[in-house]
Amino acid sequence: MQRQLEDCRKLAAERGWQVGAEYVDNDVSAYSGKKRPEYTRMMADIRDGLRDAVVVYNMDRLTRRPIELEEFAATCEAAGVRQVATVTADVDLGNDDGLFMARIFAAFAAKESGRKSERLRRKARQNAELGQPGGGANRPFGYEADKITVNPVEAEIIREIAGRYIAGESARSIAAKLAEREIPTSSGSAWRSTTVRGILRAPRIAGLRSHHGVAVATAVWKPIITLEQHQQILSVSATKQAAGRRAPRRYLLSGMLRCGKCQGRLYSSARGAERRYVCMSGADHRGCGGVTVTAPPVEELLTAAVLFRLDTPDMEAVLTDQRDDDAEHGELSSKRDKLQARMKDLSEMFAAGEISRMEWKAARDPLEHQITATEQQLARVSGSSTLEQIVGQGAALRDAWAGMNLERQHAIMRAVVDYATIMPATRLGRFDPDRVIPEWVL
Ligand SMILES: [Zn+2]
Repeated sequence: MQRQLEDCRKLAAERGWQVGAEYVDNDVSAYSGKKRPEYTRMMADIRDGLRDAVVVYNMDRLTRRPIELEEFAATCEAAGVRQVATVTADVDLGNDDGLFMARIFAAFAAKESGRKSERLRRKARQNAELGQPGGGANRPFGYEADKITVNPVEAEIIREIAGRYIAGESARSIAAKLAEREIPTSSGSAWRSTTVRGILRAPRIAGLRSHHGVAVATAVWKPIITLEQHQQILSVSATKQAAGRRAPRRYLLSGMLRCGKCQGRLYSSARGAERRYVCMSGADHRGCGGVTVTAPPVEELLTAAVLFRLDTPDMEAVLTDQRDDDAEHGELSSKRDKLQARMKDLSEMFAAGEISRMEWKAARDPLEHQITATEQQLARVSGSSTLEQIVGQGAALRDAWAGMNLERQHAIMRAVVDYATIMPATRLGRFDPDRVIPEWVL
């Protein structure tokens, strides 16, 4: 780059041109598609009439796409700039031949860069098929910067957490413990459940090289876990995903409570048999960890408050609509359960090696699509015109409350309470209703 700049200065001096400004976009080639701030600045200066000639090392440093050359030529023409000198050949933009030559250069450069990216793609694929490490700035956890040499300390950690994950420990809990032990990630960022899942699910640690998400070769680096463990991890993760979606709601107020100390969201969390809502600290949640409340009394209190608020008679229509909705809700949720059971079967077949990854993926994608669609319908039914159905129906709803499913109850709560803030406990023992500060929608 420095040599090119000096060549250009020399050329200007030979011509007897005084250098008005130098525009250098380091490390940004004309065809990379990245923004070239200095090029933009030069174009603006030409447009403003500040320049009367341009010296460039080579035309392909200036523009790589024909359209860019046309813009450049038009700008120069409008500003009366005719002289474009290059170290290799001069271009007179005021002359048809000159412009023609420049166009040929530009077209050639564009073709060349297209060929280059095709070459790069082919190279990347070959690279993968040879089991060589891929590009990317970060080293993978478990390996040194060459992406081949195993880092023995991190490898030991991978083996440990792989075992715990397969045994059923959640990625979130694993991440929290790694953070607690102050083990650094390979990028220096914080441990999250996604970081843990990313490391454990990667074919890399089983000594496989993947390309676009599919294992394509045995890698040149040494495996840290066995192929069998790798399959177990994928299977556990797929089952967890399916189970996560199937898990029935157990918390009436999930997503509706805020921490009185940090305004963060409270998460449902059981301790033994006790259901609680908790402000969670740590990378995944980022709360203060300072507020905890047992679930049942808050749920009873808010339910009573909501129903009281809605209290006025006129029942019949509401309950009829609701029965219709509940029937539709039942159908939809059993449809969803069936789909999810099939999903689980598939992942087990994959884990057992009865079907290939390709087959698994081919069957899984449309299933996932159907599950999402069904869940969207479910959400619509649960939330459908809840408000107009329930306003003024407190007493009747109170009678019907115990017989409603939790989704339905949640939808009604949501319709009336925007959120409730839970203040920290000031005394031990009995639940203090003053800790609950609802923000009403209605
Ligand atoms: Zn908090």
